[in-house]
Amino acid sequence: MIRLVVLGSGASLPTLQRHNTSVALQRDGDLFLVDCGEGTQLQWRRAGLRFSKLRAVLISHLHGDHINGLIGFLQTLSLSDRTAPLDLLGPPGIRDYIRAAREHLGLRLTYKLNVGEHSDGVIYEGSDYRIACDTLDHGVATLGFALEEDARAGRFDTEAAESLGIPAGPLFGALQRGESVTLESGKVVEPSEVLGPPRAGKRVAYCVDTRPTESAVRLASGANLFLCDSTFGNDLTEEAGRRGHSTAAQAAAMAVRAGAERLLLIHISARYHDSRQLVSEAVAVFPQSRVAEDLMELSV
Ligand SMILES: [Zn+2]
Repeated sequence: MIRLVVLGSGASLPTLQRHNTSVALQRDGDLFLVDCGEGTQLQWRRAGLRFSKLRAVLISHLHGDHINGLIGFLQTLSLSDRTAPLDLLGPPGIRDYIRAAREHLGLRLTYKLNVGEHSDGVIYEGSDYRIACDTLDHGVATLGFALEEDARAGRFDTEAAESLGIPAGPLFGALQRGESVTLESGKVVEPSEVLGPPRAGKRVAYCVDTRPTESAVRLASGANLFLCDSTFGNDLTEEAGRRGHSTAAQAAAMAVRAGAERLLLIHISARYHDSRQLVSEAVAVFPQSRVAEDLMELSV
């Protein structure tokens, strides 16, 4: 299961209702922070998330609303006596940013920070999942991310197992793990005889900030949950394009093309005090749309 906590859902101007866009992604015991604007570490605490479970910080791009909280966040990890290495994965330029903080801000960490600059491909490999990135269209080097689980074994067909004379118990478990088993009679049963077709792993995609673009559609392809830049409404479509963003309706159109299951509108401009306009414009294109709110939790 993948759990997601929205730490912030707003665009560049933080408000009392919406912090800068940032999310925590949890895959079993592994936690990932995606983007780190001002105040993110406090939101992390409000959400009750544990610093010790953090495996990597992913930064989409080097605009202030996505990175202004990073140095403070990294320092807090030091103050929490972290010693486990941490991956910091972002676009080209992030290494320089950290180097400058070490040089000019006296950034000293109690743990090894492995900084990786990326433009596409797999950037993190978990035990049975991975995180991939691709470059979006925002005017500066900007990454979208997708966390994808490995395909899971097919459903176990208890009736088929019983009709093959397999006793309920450990042999069921072995078959579910993909192992063939030998019955007392000497008969060998292969997993394919009792398992349905493999099921796709869960997938969550995060594409912020961006104009509508093919790479975002690819990252969101078949996603169970797609978080997408929805800075503006239809009233400001031109401005969205000019400033490298998407409207809620454009995010919805990408969700349709990607065959996504659910869309979460995020990176909402402070001018939309009432987000119902954005939701209705998105729902008109893609019914499974809703708007992110700070500290909202979702699971897929
Ligand atoms: Zn932004």
